[in-house]
Amino acid sequence: MHSCPCAKWNFALLPPTGPKFRALTGKAVEKILNYIGGALVPAASGQWLDNVNPATGNVYSLIPDSDQRDVQQAVEAAEGAFLAWSTLPAAERSAILVRIADLIRDRCQALARAESIDNGKPVSLAAEVDIPRAESNMRFFGTSIVHWSSESHAMEDRALNYTLRKPLGIVGCISPWNLPLYLFTWKIAPALAAGNCVIAKPSEITPMTAYLFSGLCREAGLPPGVLNVIHGRGGTAGEAIVGHTRIKAISFTGGTQTGRHIASVAAPKFKKLSLELGGKNPALIFDDCDFEATLANTVRSSFSNKGQICLCGSRILVQKGIAERFTEAFVEKVGRMKTGDPLDPQTKSGAVVSEAHMNKVLSYIALAKQEGGKVLCGGYQVHHEGALAGGYFIQPTVISGLGPDCRTNREEIFGPVVTIQVFETEEEAIQLANASEYGLASTVWTRDLSRAHRVAARMESGIVWVNCWLLRDLRTPFGGVKNSGVGREGGWEALRFFTEPQNVCVAF
Ligand code: NDP
Repeated sequence: MHSCPCAKWNFALLPPTGPKFRALTGKAVEKILNYIGGALVPAASGQWLDNVNPATGNVYSLIPDSDQRDVQQAVEAAEGAFLAWSTLPAAERSAILVRIADLIRDRCQALARAESIDNGKPVSLAAEVDIPRAESNMRFFGTSIVHWSSESHAMEDRALNYTLRKPLGIVGCISPWNLPLYLFTWKIAPALAAGNCVIAKPSEITPMTAYLFSGLCREAGLPPGVLNVIHGRGGTAGEAIVGHTRIKAISFTGGTQTGRHIASVAAPKFKKLSLELGGKNPALIFDDCDFEATLANTVRSSFSNKGQICLCGSRILVQKGIAERFTEAFVEKVGRMKTGDPLDPQTKSGAVVSEAHMNKVLSYIALAKQEGGKVLCGGYQVHHEGALAGGYFIQPTVISGLGPDCRTNREEIFGPVVTIQVFETEEEAIQLANASEYGLASTVWTRDLSRAHRVAARMESGIVWVNCWLLRDLRTPFGGVKNSGVGREGGWEALRFFTEPQNVCVAF
């Protein structure tokens, strides 16, 4: 990941901003707007939902409480735009997407600040990871499309088959709150590049950067109706997208339960579905690992973004020979982590995303204790003084003494909580790692190359990192197995998902 190219901090918000008004609290609150047919508009319902800053607990903006009427308008706008967009030469679509990437790069600081306020993540993390990655997503797919080709199959002297890869039409992209702009653009960039028109819904908990992104699309000259952003609740706005008969495919990232429900609505309508769901990722640490590198990276892979990254390792499996030394060093490092103001550039550990999520994570810590787990560090809510007094902070938590069958080790917590289990043999490590309904990512730490390949091949996960974590090449297939999802994103996989192959057979 590269860091924000802007040298100085400039906290000005991006234009265009919505109309300001005074809420009952007397504080100025920003109104976020839907982006439909190129215009920024409120919801048809006229209703608004609170958007809370998780570091303070204060409502700082309102989002449209959209429903099927807004989705219907968006579908009509997208239908009006589809023919022109899908037949625009790929080079011209590419130029617009690359312009959007340039604008994200130019507004990196403002977007990072907005992401930090909305999500509670440190502004430094947003500036180094989230926003540069959103830029890369737009640039990567914006440039991929001009290199995209399809297959041909010659039947000796009888015929030539060639495959046309046609955009699907109107597609729905639904993204979660943990990496708001990063995952939002990860979906819409390939969809748009392939010539589709998109109805997108960010999480109602973190809508701000998707709203600001709408402004960038207008500025970059994206034709009206090509991208439509609908804000609101999953059960109303999201459900209306999933259920709409004229939306041909759904690309969804979020929780496994929601994914299961979405599949039940979309499958009978024969929509294409890509589901990127939850995880309970193991980190396998062998005696022969590079100790210091493993330690530093396991702290990072456990607690980056407060553990709220689907790829974070939450089950640390460590071999007996170094278990005691590793645990001691790990707990010492984690114990020194301090939560703080996400907007302070020095802060490394911010707030969790919402009060409800904080309570969920705390309830899992209580459960771990009931199940007989020993809290080695953390395990409590952090109460700050002053402006952060109402914020949602949890001290990074490490738990030991629990086996693979307990709920703490089976269910996704998605917060700053990890467990440590000890194993003796390679076979035992593999069994423990795969003892999960999830299968998104695994991490293996060893200096033995043969073991690395052997263990990687036996991991029941879509991604295996060996001696690294979160090293991403956007060309590689990305996704999970088991309850972590169906389908793959990334590279050509994404362009294949967002296109329909058609075989044309021409006789000689
Ligand atoms: P949710 O499943 O609650 O929500 C994800 C998105 O779906 C949100 O935009 C949500 O809207 C929307 N939604 C909710 N209900 C419906 C519905 N009935 N129909 C259509 N859309 C709906 O997930 P979270 O936002 O809580 O995200 C955390 C989860 O995402 C974790 O489980 C995490 O593992 C997973 N995740 C997976 C990744 C992967 O690549 N595999 C990457 C990142 C996260 P709203 O917010 O308004 O409810």
